[in-house]
Amino acid sequence: MTRRIASILLPMPLPEAFDYEEPEGMDLMVGDQVAAPLGPRLLRGVVTALRDGTGGNRPLKVVDSKLDDPPLPQRAIDFIQWAARYSVDSPGSPLAITLRGARAQKAKPEKVVEATGAAPARPTAARTKVLETVAAQRLSPPDLARAAGVSSGVIKGLVDEGVLAVRLIEAPVAFDPPDLAREGHPLNPSQDAAAKALVSMIGEGGFNVALLDGVTGSGKTEVYLEAVAAALAADPDAQVLILLPEIALTQAVIARVAARFGSAPAEWHSDITPPARRRVWEAVATNQCRIVIGARSALFLPFAKLALIVVDEEHDASYKQEEGFIYQARDLAVARGKIEEAAVILASATPSLESLRNAETGRYRWLRLTSRHGVAVLPDITLVDMRETPPDTGRWLSPPLVKAMGETWARGEQTLLFLNRRGYAPLVLCKACGERMTSPDTDSWLVEHRYSGRLVCHLTGFSMPKPLACPHCGAKDSLTSIGPGVERVEEEARGLFPDARIAIFSSDTVWDAREAKRLIQAMEEGQIDILVATQAAAKGHNFPGLTLVGVVDADLGLRGGDLRAAERTYQLLAQATGRAGRKDRPGRAMLQTYAPEHPVMQALKAQDRDAFTTAELEEREIAGLPPYGRLAALIVSGPDAVQLEAFVERMAQTAPNAEGVAVYGPADAPLGLIRGRRRKRFLIRADRTVDLSAYLAAWRARFRPPGMIRVAIDVDPYSF
Ligand code: ADP
Repeated sequence: MTRRIASILLPMPLPEAFDYEEPEGMDLMVGDQVAAPLGPRLLRGVVTALRDGTGGNRPLKVVDSKLDDPPLPQRAIDFIQWAARYSVDSPGSPLAITLRGARAQKAKPEKVVEATGAAPARPTAARTKVLETVAAQRLSPPDLARAAGVSSGVIKGLVDEGVLAVRLIEAPVAFDPPDLAREGHPLNPSQDAAAKALVSMIGEGGFNVALLDGVTGSGKTEVYLEAVAAALAADPDAQVLILLPEIALTQAVIARVAARFGSAPAEWHSDITPPARRRVWEAVATNQCRIVIGARSALFLPFAKLALIVVDEEHDASYKQEEGFIYQARDLAVARGKIEEAAVILASATPSLESLRNAETGRYRWLRLTSRHGVAVLPDITLVDMRETPPDTGRWLSPPLVKAMGETWARGEQTLLFLNRRGYAPLVLCKACGERMTSPDTDSWLVEHRYSGRLVCHLTGFSMPKPLACPHCGAKDSLTSIGPGVERVEEEARGLFPDARIAIFSSDTVWDAREAKRLIQAMEEGQIDILVATQAAAKGHNFPGLTLVGVVDADLGLRGGDLRAAERTYQLLAQATGRAGRKDRPGRAMLQTYAPEHPVMQALKAQDRDAFTTAELEEREIAGLPPYGRLAALIVSGPDAVQLEAFVERMAQTAPNAEGVAVYGPADAPLGLIRGRRRKRFLIRADRTVDLSAYLAAWRARFRPPGMIRVAIDVDPYSF
């Protein structure tokens, strides 16, 4: 008897989908979610193909059950498979990300109170009030008691009498639809031209990419919201995804989208509750939600009909996921756009060199906004030469910056001090013996955190209380803190301006979306005079009263050998300085540097991005580096240094020879030791015409790592 065989992809690092037999009468379809046995367990999986036949000689395992959850659209499956091939990983890894929402627990049904129509035996004033309230709103018993201003006993009495009934209702899945009749802000002429170009691109239908390249404060959000409106209006089923690099930024854009379309969009990031996660997942899959705003993992949601993807701050390093399933969300967004036949908008004031190159060659439409909206002008940028005007010993803010902070405060305006380093001090050293406090399982220094009183490894999260005596020589009170972190800069600012309202914004002090929202609002409303922040608050935001940005250590990102350091530093500092003077008051930015002659500092001062990117692109072209060539890294790690050395030497022998591909290494990886594992790295450079993923897959098939050794493949590594 012929049966049907279902290929089922499981959210596990398996090389491919497994075949199962479909039990009679199950009537599976591609995309269905099922429970399938794997070893002793039942796993949630997705049907990716169905065919008639038998399993051959071997009897197949049988699908256990079809789950009562929305199926995955074919295009979501295609995307998962594409992403896995591109990243040279198992399709089970992106599937696991996709199924996160499906696996989350649904919201419990809510209790609501309703009137049965029966009249109360004794109508007291309190009872009448309750009945009036019930007639107006559907509330839970405690909310009803609160709204009517009565005790819970009154409600219980009415329920016992049969006048009121408590019913369980399912929490809603659908999101309120956007109101497309509402208008956005009137656009200025250059915004209008950019918006028209985007709207016409969307009108063409199908896959197209635009780079919305506009200086900070030029109104890119206003412009892309017009494109969102056009995409939603063009098709009543169309869905839009807006990606942002930080949770803190999603909050600001959610508020703007809610104001523009009169209803809250769906929100997706690591910080939402399981029931909210489940609701968004289901609403997206069943097309009961039209706008999603989220962090990079939102790209893996099972959109029923995705028409437009916006990648805001497209240059941002946070789009690169470096653990688990390794991917670059900006690149995957373009790939998903192609699979979905959707439009893609990449927005940034400092686009990645990859996107700029695609715009230059005409692969992307290039829309430029060169001035700020309204009367706002770009900030004045000064380089503070720290050799000429150094801070006092043990201090980090130079006299010119302190003077500017004083002037800003006297005018009732706000200062942002930017330092991309969490904690109090990056190094703790013993004055007596010179011992540096390092993490036990990495080579890196332990960072002192004063608020928590601990020393923390920023790579692994390892932490310990700060010891009173040096663990090496035993000297008491000999441990000194070297160098600044945001906590130390905050301390210095408090000493200088004891009456100012000062706050810190870093991922240690702001660990969830609520706290981020609270601080951002306080900043927007002018309740903070000086904000000391890492990059978490230095990008994207609009703080109307902020007129001074001080970059405490502009050279920080330029140290170390990373070839992308200049690009990254330019982007980060242009973003940070771009926070100043975004409304009617002109802003200024001061960069404290020991290398004012460095091309990055000169380009920032002159606000000449094009000169910087042209020079940088020339260097990349000569070296055949991205965007002119392609790169991948193989990170090989293991607990035993000798075994690891021997294995990477063998691996090097197995590297396939291919035209246009060069393999460098093995060398120590940039982070040579993490969690007790030594790490070696191969870098692979390929011409653009080479199928790098296929090359890597072929290489990987030629070696088999022994037990404790792991090989991670990072296509398009962020650092090189
Ligand atoms: P960008 O994303 O380019 O940095 P935003 O879209 O955040 O810029 O705009 C910067 C500020 O200017 C925001 O406060 C925004 O509301 C305001 N703005 C921009 N364009 C307009 C417009 N056409 N009308 C009114 N306000 C605008």
